[in-house]
Amino acid sequence: MKRFISGATCPGCGLVDKIYVLKDDDSESMHCSQCDYVEIKTEDNAADGVQEWSPIKLPDK
Ligand SMILES: [Zn+2]
Repeated sequence: MKRFISGATCPGCGLVDKIYVLKDDDSESMHCSQCDYVEIKTEDNAADGVQEWSPIKLPDK
């Protein structure tokens, strides 16, 4: 499965909308269609990328 990331900038060549994700059963990798940029996402890395959600206090109206 190949999916382009809209608005993503390639760290390699700096072009926007050239990054796509290849998804395997257990791994994800990001590639650039314009240069050699490749980033493999392992499950460990994915876990690191998870951001903690903090509650947002909505202002009373
Ligand atoms: Zn690139």
